Amino acid sequence: MDSSEFRRRGKEMVDYIADYLEGIERRPVYPDVEPGYLRPLIPTAAPQEPEAYEDIIKDIEKIIMPGVTHWHSPYFFAYFPTASSYPAMLADMLCGAIGCIGFSWAASPACTELETVMMDWLGKMLELPEAFLAGRAGEGGGVIQGSASEATLVALLAARTKVIRQLQAASPELTQAAIMEKLVAYTSDQAHSSVERAGLIGGVKLKAIPSDGNFSMRASALQEALEQDKAAGLIPFFVVATLGTTSCCSFDNLLEVGPICNLEGIWLHVDAAYAGSAFICPEFRYLLNGVEFADSFNFNPHKWLLVNFDCSAMWVKKRTDLTGAFKMDPVYLKHSHQDSGLITDYRHVALSHEFESLVRQDPRFEICTEVILGLVCFRLKGSNELNETLLQRINSAKKIHLVPCRLRDKFVLRFAVCSRTVESSHVQLAWEHIRELASSVLRAQK
Ligand SMILES: *Cc1c(COP(=O)(O)O)cnc(C)c1O
Repeated sequence: MDSSEFRRRGKEMVDYIADYLEGIERRPVYPDVEPGYLRPLIPTAAPQEPEAYEDIIKDIEKIIMPGVTHWHSPYFFAYFPTASSYPAMLADMLCGAIGCIGFSWAASPACTELETVMMDWLGKMLELPEAFLAGRAGEGGGVIQGSASEATLVALLAARTKVIRQLQAASPELTQAAIMEKLVAYTSDQAHSSVERAGLIGGVKLKAIPSDGNFSMRASALQEALEQDKAAGLIPFFVVATLGTTSCCSFDNLLEVGPICNLEGIWLHVDAAYAGSAFICPEFRYLLNGVEFADSFNFNPHKWLLVNFDCSAMWVKKRTDLTGAFKMDPVYLKHSHQDSGLITDYRHVALSHEFESLVRQDPRFEICTEVILGLVCFRLKGSNELNETLLQRINSAKKIHLVPCRLRDKFVLRFAVCSRTVESSHVQLAWEHIRELASSVLRAQK
Protein backbone atom coordinates (compact mmCIF):
# COMPACT_ATOMS: atom_id res chain seq x y z
CA MET A 1 0.00 0.00 0.00
CA ASP A 2 1.49 3.32 -1.01
CA SER A 3 0.57 6.69 0.46
CA SER A 4 -2.03 7.50 -2.19
CA GLU A 5 -3.84 4.22 -1.60
CA PHE A 6 -3.52 4.78 2.17
CA ARG A 7 -5.30 8.13 1.79
CA ARG A 8 -8.14 6.46 -0.12
CA ARG A 9 -8.46 3.38 2.09
CA GLY A 10 -8.12 5.46 5.24
CA LYS A 11 -11.10 7.59 4.25
CA GLU A 12 -13.09 4.45 3.43
CA MET A 13 -12.21 2.99 6.81
CA VAL A 14 -13.34 6.15 8.60
CA ASP A 15 -16.68 5.87 6.77
CA TYR A 16 -16.96 2.19 7.66
CA ILE A 17 -16.30 2.97 11.34
CA ALA A 18 -18.81 5.83 11.46
CA ASP A 19 -21.43 3.61 9.74
CA TYR A 20 -20.68 0.79 12.19
CA LEU A 21 -21.15 2.99 15.23
CA GLU A 22 -24.21 4.79 13.84
CA GLY A 23 -25.87 1.47 13.13
CA ILE A 24 -24.57 -0.53 16.10
CA GLU A 25 -27.94 -0.53 17.81
CA ARG A 26 -29.40 -2.67 15.01
CA ARG A 27 -26.82 -5.43 15.43
CA PRO A 28 -27.42 -8.23 17.96
CA VAL A 29 -25.38 -7.17 20.97
CA TYR A 30 -24.16 -10.71 21.62
CA PRO A 31 -22.96 -12.97 18.78
CA ASP A 32 -24.81 -16.13 17.76
CA VAL A 33 -21.81 -18.38 17.15
CA GLU A 34 -20.44 -21.58 18.62
CA PRO A 35 -16.86 -22.00 19.89
CA GLY A 36 -14.58 -22.73 16.95
CA TYR A 37 -16.88 -20.97 14.44
CA LEU A 38 -14.07 -19.03 12.80
CA ARG A 39 -11.47 -21.64 11.89
CA PRO A 40 -13.47 -23.33 9.09
CA LEU A 41 -14.23 -19.93 7.53
CA ILE A 42 -10.62 -19.04 6.74
CA PRO A 43 -7.68 -20.91 5.18
CA THR A 44 -5.61 -23.11 7.48
CA ALA A 45 -2.38 -21.29 6.57
CA ALA A 46 -1.49 -17.86 5.22
CA PRO A 47 -2.10 -17.77 1.44
CA GLN A 48 0.95 -17.76 -0.87
CA GLU A 49 -0.58 -15.09 -3.13
CA PRO A 50 -1.91 -11.83 -1.67
CA GLU A 51 -5.65 -11.22 -1.76
CA ALA A 52 -7.16 -7.99 -3.01
CA TYR A 53 -7.81 -5.36 -0.32
CA GLU A 54 -11.52 -5.34 -1.24
CA ASP A 55 -11.76 -9.07 -0.58
CA ILE A 56 -10.07 -8.80 2.78
CA ILE A 57 -12.39 -5.98 3.82
CA LYS A 58 -15.42 -8.04 2.79
CA ASP A 59 -14.34 -10.66 5.34
CA ILE A 60 -14.93 -8.19 8.14
CA GLU A 61 -18.72 -8.30 7.76
CA LYS A 62 -18.75 -11.91 6.62
CA ILE A 63 -16.42 -13.54 9.14
CA ILE A 64 -15.43 -11.17 11.92
CA MET A 65 -18.55 -9.18 12.79
CA PRO A 66 -20.75 -12.27 13.33
CA GLY A 67 -18.39 -13.22 16.17
CA VAL A 68 -18.10 -9.76 17.76
CA THR A 69 -19.70 -8.81 21.08
CA HIS A 70 -20.67 -5.19 20.53
CA TRP A 71 -19.38 -3.52 23.68
CA HIS A 72 -20.49 -0.11 22.42
CA SER A 73 -24.07 -1.12 21.72
CA PRO A 74 -26.57 0.72 23.90
CA TYR A 75 -27.92 -2.75 24.79
CA PHE A 76 -24.61 -3.80 26.35
CA PHE A 77 -25.02 -3.76 30.13
CA ALA A 78 -22.35 -6.33 31.02
CA TYR A 79 -19.09 -6.06 32.99
CA PHE A 80 -18.19 -2.36 33.12
CA PRO A 81 -18.03 0.18 30.28
CA THR A 82 -14.98 0.19 28.05
CA ALA A 83 -14.38 3.64 26.68
CA SER A 84 -14.33 4.64 23.04
CA SER A 85 -14.74 7.95 21.27
CA TYR A 86 -14.01 9.50 17.90
CA PRO A 87 -11.18 11.72 19.20
CA ALA A 88 -9.59 8.70 20.91
CA MET A 89 -9.74 6.72 17.65
CA LEU A 90 -8.10 9.56 15.74
CA ALA A 91 -5.42 9.82 18.41
CA ASP A 92 -4.78 6.07 18.10
CA MET A 93 -4.17 6.55 14.38
CA LEU A 94 -1.65 9.28 15.03
CA CYS A 95 0.10 7.16 17.68
CA GLY A 96 0.32 4.36 15.15
CA ALA A 97 1.89 6.73 12.66
CA ILE A 98 4.49 8.17 15.03
CA GLY A 99 5.00 4.65 16.33
CA CYS A 100 7.50 5.55 19.01
CA ILE A 101 8.51 3.47 22.02
CA GLY A 102 8.93 5.67 25.07
CA PHE A 103 11.18 3.59 27.33
CA SER A 104 13.38 6.55 28.20
CA TRP A 105 13.25 10.30 27.79
CA ALA A 106 15.68 10.18 24.87
CA ALA A 107 13.71 7.45 23.10
CA SER A 108 11.11 10.14 22.43
CA PRO A 109 11.13 13.26 24.60
CA ALA A 110 7.61 14.42 23.67
CA CYS A 111 6.19 11.04 24.65
CA THR A 112 7.60 11.08 28.20
CA GLU A 113 6.99 14.75 28.82
CA LEU A 114 3.43 14.76 27.51
CA GLU A 115 2.60 11.74 29.68
CA THR A 116 3.95 13.43 32.80
CA VAL A 117 2.13 16.68 32.18
CA MET A 118 -1.16 15.01 31.22
CA MET A 119 -1.00 12.87 34.36
CA ASP A 120 -0.67 16.08 36.37
CA TRP A 121 -3.69 17.55 34.57
CA LEU A 122 -5.71 14.44 35.29
CA GLY A 123 -4.52 14.35 38.90
CA LYS A 124 -5.63 17.95 39.35
CA MET A 125 -9.03 17.16 37.85
CA LEU A 126 -9.44 14.47 40.52
CA GLU A 127 -8.14 16.86 43.20
CA LEU A 128 -5.49 14.32 44.12
CA PRO A 129 -3.31 15.56 46.98
CA GLU A 130 -0.35 17.65 45.78
CA ALA A 131 2.01 14.84 46.85
CA PHE A 132 0.87 12.72 43.88
CA LEU A 133 1.72 15.39 41.29
CA ALA A 134 5.06 15.78 39.57
CA GLY A 135 4.85 19.53 39.01
CA ARG A 136 8.30 20.95 38.41
CA ALA A 137 9.97 19.63 41.52
CA GLY A 138 7.55 17.22 43.20
CA GLU A 139 8.53 13.73 44.32
CA GLY A 140 5.29 12.16 43.18
CA GLY A 141 3.79 11.76 39.75
CA GLY A 142 1.77 9.71 37.38
CA VAL A 143 2.64 7.06 34.85
CA ILE A 144 0.39 5.28 32.37
CA GLN A 145 0.03 1.52 32.70
CA GLY A 146 -1.73 -0.81 30.31
CA SER A 147 -4.31 -2.01 32.81
CA ALA A 148 -5.38 -1.75 36.43
CA SER A 149 -4.11 -5.30 36.89
CA GLU A 150 -0.65 -4.15 35.86
CA ALA A 151 -0.83 -1.13 38.17
CA THR A 152 -1.62 -3.37 41.15
CA LEU A 153 1.26 -5.68 40.25
CA VAL A 154 3.67 -2.75 39.79
CA ALA A 155 2.63 -1.32 43.18
CA LEU A 156 3.02 -4.70 44.89
CA LEU A 157 6.48 -5.29 43.42
CA ALA A 158 7.62 -1.77 44.35
CA ALA A 159 6.30 -2.23 47.90
CA ARG A 160 8.02 -5.61 48.12
CA THR A 161 11.37 -4.15 47.03
CA LYS A 162 11.00 -1.28 49.47
CA VAL A 163 10.30 -3.44 52.50
CA ILE A 164 13.06 -5.91 51.62
CA ARG A 165 15.60 -3.06 51.37
CA GLN A 166 14.42 -1.55 54.65
CA LEU A 167 14.70 -4.84 56.50
CA GLN A 168 18.08 -5.66 54.99
CA ALA A 169 19.40 -2.21 55.90
CA ALA A 170 18.52 -2.96 59.53
CA SER A 171 19.65 -6.62 59.46
CA PRO A 172 22.10 -7.27 56.59
CA GLU A 173 22.21 -11.01 57.33
CA LEU A 174 18.57 -11.43 56.18
CA THR A 175 18.28 -12.92 52.71
CA GLN A 176 15.64 -11.81 50.26
CA ALA A 177 14.16 -15.32 50.32
CA ALA A 178 13.92 -15.32 54.12
CA ILE A 179 12.04 -12.02 54.04
CA MET A 180 9.75 -12.96 51.17
CA GLU A 181 8.57 -16.04 53.02
CA LYS A 182 7.13 -13.80 55.71
CA LEU A 183 5.62 -11.02 53.63
CA VAL A 184 1.82 -10.72 53.64
CA ALA A 185 -0.41 -8.54 51.46
CA TYR A 186 -4.10 -7.85 52.22
CA THR A 187 -7.19 -6.95 50.27
CA SER A 188 -10.92 -7.27 50.82
CA ASP A 189 -12.85 -10.38 49.85
CA GLN A 190 -14.53 -8.17 47.20
CA ALA A 191 -11.30 -7.13 45.42
CA HIS A 192 -10.79 -7.78 41.71
CA SER A 193 -9.18 -11.15 40.91
CA SER A 194 -6.13 -9.32 39.53
CA VAL A 195 -5.10 -8.47 43.11
CA GLU A 196 -4.86 -12.14 44.01
CA ARG A 197 -2.94 -12.74 40.79
CA ALA A 198 -0.49 -9.94 41.68
CA GLY A 199 0.21 -11.80 44.92
CA LEU A 200 0.84 -15.00 42.97
CA ILE A 201 3.19 -13.32 40.49
CA GLY A 202 4.91 -11.40 43.27
CA GLY A 203 5.47 -14.60 45.25
CA VAL A 204 3.91 -13.32 48.48
CA LYS A 205 0.99 -14.42 50.64
CA LEU A 206 -2.22 -12.54 49.97
CA LYS A 207 -5.03 -12.61 52.51
CA ALA A 208 -8.67 -11.70 51.94
CA ILE A 209 -10.15 -9.49 54.64
CA PRO A 210 -13.86 -10.21 55.23
CA SER A 211 -15.94 -7.20 54.13
CA ASP A 212 -18.82 -5.83 56.20
CA GLY A 213 -22.57 -5.85 55.42
CA ASN A 214 -22.06 -3.18 52.74
CA PHE A 215 -19.21 -5.17 51.11
CA SER A 216 -16.74 -2.62 52.47
CA MET A 217 -13.35 -3.34 54.08
CA ARG A 218 -13.32 -1.81 57.57
CA ALA A 219 -10.63 -1.06 60.13
CA SER A 220 -11.58 -3.72 62.66
CA ALA A 221 -11.32 -6.68 60.27
CA LEU A 222 -8.00 -5.45 58.85
CA GLN A 223 -6.57 -4.70 62.28
CA GLU A 224 -7.49 -8.18 63.49
CA ALA A 225 -5.69 -9.86 60.59
CA LEU A 226 -2.61 -7.66 61.07
CA GLU A 227 -2.37 -8.45 64.78
CA GLN A 228 -2.74 -12.18 64.18
CA ASP A 229 -0.11 -12.24 61.47
CA LYS A 230 2.39 -10.10 63.36
CA ALA A 231 1.98 -12.37 66.39
CA ALA A 232 2.77 -15.32 64.10
CA GLY A 233 6.02 -13.65 63.01
CA LEU A 234 4.78 -12.57 59.57
CA ILE A 235 5.46 -9.18 57.98
CA PRO A 236 2.43 -7.23 56.70
CA PHE A 237 3.68 -4.93 53.91
CA PHE A 238 0.93 -4.14 51.37
CA VAL A 239 -2.80 -3.39 51.36
CA VAL A 240 -5.02 -2.92 48.31
CA ALA A 241 -8.23 -0.98 48.97
CA THR A 242 -10.88 -0.80 46.27
CA LEU A 243 -13.09 2.16 45.46
CA GLY A 244 -15.93 0.78 43.34
CA THR A 245 -15.59 -3.01 43.40
CA THR A 246 -16.19 -4.96 40.22
CA SER A 247 -18.94 -7.15 41.63
CA CYS A 248 -21.16 -4.50 43.17
CA CYS A 249 -19.40 -1.10 43.16
CA SER A 250 -18.89 -1.05 46.92
CA PHE A 251 -16.26 1.19 48.52
CA ASP A 252 -13.66 0.17 51.09
CA ASN A 253 -13.46 2.58 54.00
CA LEU A 254 -10.27 4.50 53.17
CA LEU A 255 -10.63 6.90 56.06
CA GLU A 256 -10.43 3.92 58.44
CA VAL A 257 -8.00 1.69 56.58
CA GLY A 258 -5.60 4.47 55.50
CA PRO A 259 -4.40 5.61 58.95
CA ILE A 260 -3.78 1.99 60.01
CA CYS A 261 -1.54 1.42 56.99
CA ASN A 262 0.36 4.65 57.64
CA LEU A 263 0.84 3.78 61.30
CA GLU A 264 2.06 0.27 60.50
CA GLY A 265 4.32 1.42 57.65
CA ILE A 266 2.33 -0.62 55.13
CA TRP A 267 2.13 0.46 51.48
CA LEU A 268 -1.49 1.32 50.63
CA HIS A 269 -2.55 0.96 47.00
CA VAL A 270 -5.99 2.22 45.96
CA ASP A 271 -7.69 0.51 43.02
CA ALA A 272 -10.47 2.69 41.59
CA ALA A 273 -10.36 1.19 38.09
CA TYR A 274 -13.99 1.92 37.24
CA ALA A 275 -15.13 4.52 39.78
CA GLY A 276 -12.10 6.80 39.45
CA SER A 277 -13.44 8.73 36.46
CA ALA A 278 -16.48 9.79 38.49
CA PHE A 279 -14.34 11.56 41.08
CA ILE A 280 -13.80 14.37 38.59
CA CYS A 281 -17.42 15.35 39.27
CA PRO A 282 -17.60 17.53 42.40
CA GLU A 283 -20.64 15.58 43.63
CA PHE A 284 -18.67 12.31 43.66
CA ARG A 285 -15.28 13.59 44.81
CA TYR A 286 -16.08 12.73 48.44
CA LEU A 287 -15.79 9.05 47.47
CA LEU A 288 -12.04 9.60 47.07
CA ASN A 289 -11.58 11.02 50.56
CA GLY A 290 -8.76 9.22 52.33
CA VAL A 291 -6.60 8.91 49.21
CA GLU A 292 -4.16 11.16 51.09
CA PHE A 293 -3.17 8.06 53.11
CA ALA A 294 -2.33 6.05 49.97
CA ASP A 295 1.13 5.45 48.52
CA SER A 296 -0.28 4.69 45.07
CA PHE A 297 -3.60 5.24 43.33
CA ASN A 298 -4.96 3.97 40.05
CA PHE A 299 -7.98 4.31 37.79
CA ASN A 300 -8.82 3.44 34.19
CA PRO A 301 -9.58 6.25 31.74
CA HIS A 302 -10.18 3.34 29.35
CA LYS A 303 -13.24 2.36 31.34
CA TRP A 304 -15.23 5.55 31.73
CA LEU A 305 -13.32 8.52 30.36
CA LEU A 306 -13.67 8.16 26.59
CA VAL A 307 -10.12 6.91 26.04
CA ASN A 308 -9.80 3.67 24.06
CA PHE A 309 -8.12 0.65 25.68
CA ASP A 310 -5.42 0.61 26.99
CA CYS A 311 -4.89 3.52 29.34
CA SER A 312 -4.67 2.98 33.08
CA ALA A 313 -3.54 6.01 35.07
CA MET A 314 -1.36 5.35 38.11
CA TRP A 315 0.08 7.84 40.59
CA VAL A 316 2.64 7.38 43.34
CA LYS A 317 3.72 9.72 46.11
CA LYS A 318 7.37 8.80 45.60
CA ARG A 319 8.48 8.23 42.03
CA THR A 320 11.73 6.81 43.31
CA ASP A 321 9.81 3.87 44.81
CA LEU A 322 9.01 2.80 41.25
CA THR A 323 12.20 3.83 39.51
CA GLY A 324 14.23 2.31 42.35
CA ALA A 325 12.39 -1.00 42.21
CA PHE A 326 12.60 -1.50 38.47
CA LYS A 327 15.80 0.25 37.46
CA MET A 328 17.78 -1.44 34.68
CA ASP A 329 20.71 0.30 33.07
CA PRO A 330 21.91 -1.45 29.93
CA VAL A 331 24.34 0.67 27.94
CA TYR A 332 22.02 1.14 24.99
CA LEU A 333 19.54 2.96 27.24
CA LYS A 334 22.07 5.47 28.59
CA HIS A 335 21.71 9.00 27.35
CA SER A 336 23.04 12.41 28.23
CA HIS A 337 19.90 13.45 30.10
CA GLN A 338 20.14 10.44 32.42
CA ASP A 339 18.26 11.00 35.66
CA SER A 340 16.95 14.28 34.36
CA GLY A 341 14.04 13.57 36.70
CA LEU A 342 10.69 13.01 35.14
CA ILE A 343 10.36 9.48 34.03
CA THR A 344 7.83 8.75 34.75
CA ASP A 345 -20.20 12.06 31.18
CA TYR A 346 -22.08 11.01 34.00
CA ARG A 347 -25.45 10.44 32.45
CA HIS A 348 -24.60 6.86 33.29
CA VAL A 349 -25.31 7.55 36.94
CA ALA A 350 -28.70 9.07 36.28
CA LEU A 351 -29.58 6.10 34.05
CA SER A 352 -28.53 3.59 36.70
CA HIS A 353 -30.85 5.29 39.20
CA GLU A 354 -33.61 5.23 36.61
CA PHE A 355 -33.11 1.48 36.23
CA GLU A 356 -32.97 1.08 40.00
CA SER A 357 -36.32 2.81 40.43
CA LEU A 358 -37.87 0.60 37.72
CA VAL A 359 -36.63 -2.49 39.57
CA ARG A 360 -37.94 -1.19 42.90
CA GLN A 361 -41.42 -0.73 41.41
CA ASP A 362 -41.65 -4.46 40.72
CA PRO A 363 -42.15 -6.39 43.97
CA ARG A 364 -40.83 -9.61 42.41
CA PHE A 365 -37.32 -8.11 42.33
CA GLU A 366 -34.86 -6.81 44.89
CA ILE A 367 -31.93 -4.37 44.72
CA CYS A 368 -28.89 -6.03 46.32
CA THR A 369 -26.48 -3.17 47.07
CA GLU A 370 -26.62 0.60 47.26
CA VAL A 371 -26.48 2.17 43.79
CA ILE A 372 -23.70 4.77 43.87
CA LEU A 373 -22.39 5.09 40.31
CA GLY A 374 -23.42 3.38 37.07
CA LEU A 375 -23.93 -0.20 38.33
CA VAL A 376 -27.16 -1.77 39.63
CA CYS A 377 -27.02 -5.18 41.33
CA PHE A 378 -30.46 -6.80 41.36
CA ARG A 379 -32.17 -10.19 41.41
CA LEU A 380 -35.52 -11.91 41.51
CA LYS A 381 -36.54 -12.61 45.09
CA GLY A 382 -36.07 -16.35 45.32
CA SER A 383 -33.52 -19.03 44.66
CA ASN A 384 -30.18 -18.76 42.91
CA GLU A 385 -31.39 -21.30 40.33
CA LEU A 386 -34.26 -19.00 39.46
CA ASN A 387 -31.88 -16.11 38.85
CA GLU A 388 -29.45 -18.28 36.92
CA THR A 389 -32.32 -19.32 34.66
CA LEU A 390 -33.37 -15.70 34.19
CA LEU A 391 -29.86 -14.63 33.22
CA GLN A 392 -29.53 -17.53 30.85
CA ARG A 393 -32.82 -16.52 29.19
CA ILE A 394 -31.70 -12.90 28.94
CA ASN A 395 -28.38 -13.74 27.35
CA SER A 396 -29.71 -16.36 24.98
CA ALA A 397 -32.37 -13.93 23.74
CA LYS A 398 -29.40 -11.70 22.77
CA LYS A 399 -31.39 -8.48 22.88
CA ILE A 400 -29.31 -7.18 25.74
CA HIS A 401 -26.18 -8.50 27.42
CA LEU A 402 -25.58 -8.82 31.17
CA VAL A 403 -23.15 -10.70 33.39
CA PRO A 404 -23.72 -11.93 36.95
CA CYS A 405 -21.80 -11.68 40.19
CA ARG A 406 -21.95 -13.55 43.45
CA LEU A 407 -22.49 -11.56 46.63
CA ARG A 408 -21.92 -13.82 49.63
CA ASP A 409 -24.04 -16.84 48.70
CA LYS A 410 -26.39 -15.00 46.34
CA PHE A 411 -26.37 -15.15 42.54
CA VAL A 412 -26.93 -11.57 41.44
CA LEU A 413 -27.47 -9.86 38.07
CA ARG A 414 -25.36 -6.82 37.26
CA PHE A 415 -26.81 -4.02 35.12
CA ALA A 416 -23.90 -1.72 34.21
CA VAL A 417 -24.64 1.36 32.13
CA CYS A 418 -21.88 1.07 29.57
CA SER A 419 -22.30 2.59 26.11
CA ARG A 420 -21.59 6.24 25.50
CA THR A 421 -24.79 6.37 23.43
CA VAL A 422 -27.15 4.63 25.86
CA GLU A 423 -30.33 6.59 26.58
CA SER A 424 -33.36 6.31 28.78
CA SER A 425 -35.26 4.55 25.99
CA HIS A 426 -32.68 1.74 25.89
CA VAL A 427 -32.85 1.32 29.65
CA GLN A 428 -36.66 1.18 29.55
CA LEU A 429 -36.62 -1.35 26.72
CA ALA A 430 -34.06 -3.44 28.57
CA TRP A 431 -36.20 -3.42 31.72
CA GLU A 432 -39.39 -4.34 29.83
CA HIS A 433 -37.49 -7.20 28.24
CA ILE A 434 -36.13 -8.42 31.60
CA ARG A 435 -39.63 -8.23 33.15
CA GLU A 436 -41.15 -10.27 30.35
CA LEU A 437 -38.50 -12.96 30.61
CA ALA A 438 -38.88 -12.94 34.40
CA SER A 439 -42.64 -13.49 34.05
CA SER A 440 -42.10 -16.44 31.78
CA VAL A 441 -39.43 -17.94 34.05
CA LEU A 442 -41.74 -17.54 37.07
CA ARG A 443 -44.70 -19.06 35.17
CA ALA A 444 -42.62 -22.06 34.16
CA GLN A 445 -41.63 -22.57 37.77
CA LYS A 446 -45.24 -22.96 38.95
C1 LIG B 1 -12.00 -3.53 35.78
C2 LIG B 1 -11.34 -3.59 37.10
C3 LIG B 1 -10.03 -4.07 37.21
C4 LIG B 1 -9.26 -4.63 36.03
O1 LIG B 1 -8.98 -3.64 35.12
P1 LIG B 1 -7.96 -3.94 33.91
O2 LIG B 1 -7.56 -2.59 33.44
O3 LIG B 1 -8.75 -4.71 32.90
O4 LIG B 1 -6.84 -4.73 34.46
C5 LIG B 1 -9.42 -4.02 38.44
N1 LIG B 1 -10.06 -3.55 39.52
C6 LIG B 1 -11.33 -3.11 39.47
C7 LIG B 1 -11.99 -2.59 40.70
C8 LIG B 1 -12.02 -3.13 38.24
O5 LIG B 1 -13.28 -2.69 38.17
